[in-house]
Amino acid sequence: MSEKRPFVTKKQVEKIVKTYPTPFHLYDERAIRENVRRVKKAFSWNHGYREYFAVKATPNPYILSILREEGCGADCASLTELMLSEAAGITGENIMFSSNDTPRGEFTKANELHAYINLDDYTMIDFLKEECGIPKTICCRYNPGGVYTVSNGIMDNPGDAKYGMTKPQIFDAYKKLQKLGAEEFGLHSFLVSNTVTNDYYPALARTLFTLAVELKQETGAKIKFVNLSGGVGVAYRPEQKENDIEAIGEGVRRAYEEILVPAGMGDVAIFTELGRFMLAPYGHLITRAIHEKHIYKEYIGVDACAVNLMRPAMYNAYHHITVLGKENALCDHKYDIVGSLCENNDKFAVDRELPEISIGDYLAIHDTGAHGFSMGYNYNGKLRSAELLLCEDGSIKQIRRAETPKDYFATFDFSDRFKFSE
Ligand SMILES: *Cc1c(COP(=O)(O)O)cnc(C)c1O
Repeated sequence: MSEKRPFVTKKQVEKIVKTYPTPFHLYDERAIRENVRRVKKAFSWNHGYREYFAVKATPNPYILSILREEGCGADCASLTELMLSEAAGITGENIMFSSNDTPRGEFTKANELHAYINLDDYTMIDFLKEECGIPKTICCRYNPGGVYTVSNGIMDNPGDAKYGMTKPQIFDAYKKLQKLGAEEFGLHSFLVSNTVTNDYYPALARTLFTLAVELKQETGAKIKFVNLSGGVGVAYRPEQKENDIEAIGEGVRRAYEEILVPAGMGDVAIFTELGRFMLAPYGHLITRAIHEKHIYKEYIGVDACAVNLMRPAMYNAYHHITVLGKENALCDHKYDIVGSLCENNDKFAVDRELPEISIGDYLAIHDTGAHGFSMGYNYNGKLRSAELLLCEDGSIKQIRRAETPKDYFATFDFSDRFKFSE
């Protein structure tokens, strides 16, 4: 079994909490930058390659700025995500707008920023045309339907997914868009989330490259890019084998050489919209044990709860936990690690074997850098935590302050009735 080590020590956390009390999300700048460089290297064989970070995974302008400095763009799906990207200095062709069920007004904002627009449905063509016109370059999202399999079995069920167009619709969409003035095209698909296999992207690439060749042959469309979207996962469990991005990039390259190059399409750019793979391992939710409870089971109550990290409650997802300072202690206790919501699914871990936990111990919950803070909510009137950055020089920067009751009540128009002590 491989080990999962936190990127902070108890000593560092004891220092941080003097300024920023728990719970908080902490991100590791150095590791984020190193990972982007690995991803870019894995696809460096492709001249036009670009990673568009899926903003929903970690919507923080400081994080987006780090990614921009490393050459990433942003994948957005809402007005505020577009605004965040703009605020982080990401505009134009560095934005991919991959929305679905798009509310009125959002295409207009994307268009103003000169973002690439990725259409989720055939009916979105008229909607877009009416709202702001058809841009010269446009992308369409494909859903192959059925069940998606790679070498090691069934991965997911696109036939049940709400996204994308059927194959006949994609052909019709390209033709209609050409008539409406589109000159260059993209092709996008997102079939499986959190894949822990090096085979997913290469298999998806084969599917999309084959379709791209057919689209070009039948419609004469100039295909500018193929967008492999997100879905490359991380090893949340210590026994899982991490994806090898180098091998993934090489698998996509082989498919490119075999399918696109012989069709005279060796100039197609490869885009990705990774979220989880870019950030998840480089964030921890740091929380403190504040209570213990001994009933039919042994409980440790911490000061974070599901509003800070929803994945365990929502998907029954595993997140590894390290008791800081007890990294090498024997895991001879079994606990449920719980938060304070009046919801019985508010459990970060169930029947987890851990070292003995004392009140006051700090726990690092791993792999919370993506789809962690961002899925937060305010149930039970709980407040969102701060987000902190462990900078490359070892210093700590607060990149989002914790919410206060004032923030929570800010949308009421009778705020003067509340007494705030700040
Ligand atoms: C969520 C999402 C992503 C990122 O997915 P990850 O699983 O975080 O890689 C990329 N593209 C689109 C359109 C998405 O909805």
